[in-house]
Amino acid sequence: MMITQLIFKRVAPHLRCGRWALVQTHLKQLMRTNSDLSEFRELFSMAKHIAIITGAGVSAESGVPTFRQAGGQWRTWKTQDLATPECFSRNPSRVWEFYHYRRELALNACPSAAHRAIAECEARLSKQGRSVVVITQNIDELHHQAGSKHVLEVHGNLFKTRCVSCGDVESNHKSPICPSLEGKGSPDPDVKDAPIPVKNLPRCDEKGCDGLLRPDVIWFGDFGLSHPY
Ligand SMILES: [Zn+2]
Repeated sequence: MMITQLIFKRVAPHLRCGRWALVQTHLKQLMRTNSDLSEFRELFSMAKHIAIITGAGVSAESGVPTFRQAGGQWRTWKTQDLATPECFSRNPSRVWEFYHYRRELALNACPSAAHRAIAECEARLSKQGRSVVVITQNIDELHHQAGSKHVLEVHGNLFKTRCVSCGDVESNHKSPICPSLEGKGSPDPDVKDAPIPVKNLPRCDEKGCDGLLRPDVIWFGDFGLSHPY
């Protein structure tokens, strides 16, 4: 339900009625009745506004771990144990190690064949006056890297930070994001936490703020966030 609401909130202004609604209805009928790709191709060729929804699988092809499959852990924790406001409040150093690891992985990953095909689809159809929007749960920017222009990141972005004090959101592609995380974040279960003091974790650059930064991604239970830092 939460994901559905987010998708509608972020996507609704970008979609138009008419042809989109028509195709969506036809697709529902098509999915109910058969799996004939030729019918899909026919409907696709008629569509003027196309939404492509992607998830972790498309980035797994690029070597970005999903953390949701069997054995998908960082050290001894699952994502659900790390990606929460409560965990960040209790142990921001551990959570930043986890996200530093993910940022570095994503920075060194290349778009997969699927990312590239979607970007090529958008480029080709835009010349015909048709629009393509990518709605993704992925936070790794690989759709952007592949060349997609219209990307809605419903779970946020690894390369944006949000200040827990003033709320300022900034793009940030530094590697490492701060000196104290250099060489940290190994997923090896035998590696112990590096208890980095909060003052040495990423901090806000806004004048007079210096608040703690967090990744600007959606966490489990991430509504009505308030933070003591
Ligand atoms: Zn701030």
